[in-house]
Order: sequence, then structure tokens, then C-alpha cells
Amino acid sequence: ASTWSAVPAGPPDPILGVTEAYKADKDPRKINLGVGAYRDEHGKPYVLPSVKEAEARLSALKPDKEYLPITGLAEFTQNAALLAYGADSEPLKQGSISVTQSISGTGALRIGGAFLARHYPNSKIIYLPVPSWGNHTPIFRDSGLEVRGYRYFDKKTVGLDFEGLKADLLAAPEQSIVLLHACAHNPTGVDPTQEQWAQISDIVKERKLFPFFDMAYQGFASGSTSHDAFAVRHFVSEGHHIALAQSFAKNMGLYGERVGAFSLTTTDPDEKARVNSQLKIVIRPTYSNPPLHGARIANKILGDKALYTQWESEVKGMADRIISMREKLYSALTHDLKTPGEWGHIKSQIGMFSFTGLTPPQTKALAEKAHVYMTADGRISMAGLNGGNIEYFAESVDAAVK
Ligand code: PLP
Repeated sequence: ASTWSAVPAGPPDPILGVTEAYKADKDPRKINLGVGAYRDEHGKPYVLPSVKEAEARLSALKPDKEYLPITGLAEFTQNAALLAYGADSEPLKQGSISVTQSISGTGALRIGGAFLARHYPNSKIIYLPVPSWGNHTPIFRDSGLEVRGYRYFDKKTVGLDFEGLKADLLAAPEQSIVLLHACAHNPTGVDPTQEQWAQISDIVKERKLFPFFDMAYQGFASGSTSHDAFAVRHFVSEGHHIALAQSFAKNMGLYGERVGAFSLTTTDPDEKARVNSQLKIVIRPTYSNPPLHGARIANKILGDKALYTQWESEVKGMADRIISMREKLYSALTHDLKTPGEWGHIKSQIGMFSFTGLTPPQTKALAEKAHVYMTADGRISMAGLNGGNIEYFAESVDAAVK
């Protein structure tokens, strides 16, 4: 037998597999609502003008291609922390935030998971919302943590199961780790209100849980980066020590450049230095040091007042286009087509995705009959809709549910 004869075929990735099926479809009406990547009003990938400008300025400087330090471009990580924590953040002002560049949000979560598995002195259990981004479970399991779930989504109300969430966090063993989506919860598009965040913070304190924030969509949810950072900043101002994974994939459209940051708030600069030294020991044998180009782009934007202002308006432009697609889809289903069912959640959900409530057989029928692709759980990427395809999409949904 050959060396690999016993290796079983693994299942395709549930999200990236959707794109593969879409690519293989030759029908001109086909729509890909699977992957969470922004598309412009013509359905095309969007390179932000601020990113193009930053790249042009960088290339004029003819920069070298030397290795970055293990924790990345220092100026970039400082700017990333400032974007997340805000200029008023106490630990930021004290210099007690340990931050490293990461291979986008996924890499930040993985480095964080590995660091907690090795150094978090308490429980090795991490609670994820049910449902969560599909990659969270394998990331934390492969990091060496035990993954459990807390209730998050209520199918009946297509909203937050806040009572279930509170009960499950109150019942979690003390000092467990809890993963929180900072904004634009993926896949549901349902976020806690600010009052609910304050209550979650109280429970986390009472149960001595350790909050790990995943912030993959800062600015993308509301159009404002500071509004979307509310939960993170509230927890920090309440005195929690947090872990934070940041991604610049969505809000700067830097998907393939893999730009992100992982940070931990610590007690003082001395503790920070010790934590930093251990983060390096986790990173060095994993990928040695992070990629250069994307971090330089993000740093140019974050560090230049005019470019930063331009970028903020471009983030708002993306968020606003998604919000307008939510309104158009809602009105097409409810008013134009009188599609059976309640569709208000399409408008009230936040961020890149909508959890439509379409069932696995309906999503299968949409792919096979209408050439419309989405994940089997009925999640659609709102950014894949535009003026040219939204009517066809609404009619296809209407046909699928009737
Ligand atoms: N976390 C969540 C909730 C996400 O939705 C994503 C991307 O879809 C990520 C993290 C990480 O993405 P990336 O590694 O591309 O930054």
C-alpha cells in the first residue's frame, strides 16, 4: 500500500466550499453569497482608494523587503491598539497592553488560543456563542483548549437569546474563557445592545470569566469604528483584562494581505514585557515573523490624518451600501413579492451577514435551481447583493419558500 493510502478524504470547508461550487457554475445569473468579502455595486472586489493611495506612497519610498521582528511592525501594532482601545484607554496610556501583529484575524485567534493554553493559569475551557463563525471551534480546539457553547441565537425570535446567554455564562465554571464577537456577530448579524453588553460585563466579572474578543468587523457594522468598539472599550473601562483579536481584512479590504493584531491588557509595563516575551515564544516556531506589505499599508492609513479620515468615510460607504441592500431586500420580499414569512430581521441584523432563516433544503434548492450560493445554515453575505442582482435574488428566495 502507498504511504498515504489510509488517509481519509476530509469534508470541504463549509464556507470556502461554497465558492468552489459557485465557480464551477456556468449560468450567467449565478450569485455567490457565501464568503464574507465585500463587493461593490457591480459585484466586483473593492480595493479601497485609501489603500491604493497608501500603496502608491509606499512604493515611491522604494522600501526594502527585510524581515519584520517576531511581533511585527511596531508602529502598526501601536496604531492598531489605538484604533481598538481608543485614546482614552487607561491600559493604553499606561503602556500595559501587549500587542503583536498577526496573520489577520484567524492568526490572532490562534496565537491567542495557544498563549492561553500555555499561560492562562486557570480553566482551559473556552465558551463560544452558538452558533459562531465556523472556524472558531477548530482554531481553539487545535490550540489545545476545550470548546463549549453558550446560547446566543433564538430561532423563534430570529434575535438574541439573552436569557439563555446569561444563564449559560452564570453556569459556566469560574475562570472559564468566553469568546465574544465585539460587533457584527458572524453568522447571525445579531449583536447585544449597549445595555446588554453592560450586563454581560457584570456576569463576566461575577463569574471571574476571562473575556476574549474577536473584532473582525470594526467599522463595518455601524459605519463608525468607535461605535463598533463599544463592547471592547466598555469591558476595559470596567477593569476587565481582555484578549483581543483584530482583523483588517474587512474594514480595509486587505483580505489576502493577512493584516491583524492580537493583544492582551496587563497590569503594568513589567507584566506586559513578560507577556510579550512569551508571545514571541509562541509565534517564533509557528511562522517566525509576520508579512510586511499589508502591515505597511494599514500603518500608513492609521498613521496619516488625511488618509485616516478618507478611510473612515470609505468604511462608512461600505457599511451604508450593505444597509441599503438590507432595506431593498426586505421591501422586495415583504412589499413587492409578498413572500410568506416574517423578514424584519433582514433589516435589523448588523454587519456583513444576514441569517435569513432559509433551511438547508431551501439553500440546496436555491443553488441547484437558481444558481444562488450560500452556506447551508441560510447565512447570506449582504455585500454580494447589488442593484443588478437583488431582484433576481428576492424572486429566487420567494420561489424557494413557496
Ligand atoms: N472572526 C470572524 C468572526 C470572522 O468572520 C472572520 C472572517 O470571516 C475572522 C475572524 C477572520 O478573518 P481573517 O483571518 O480573514 O482576518
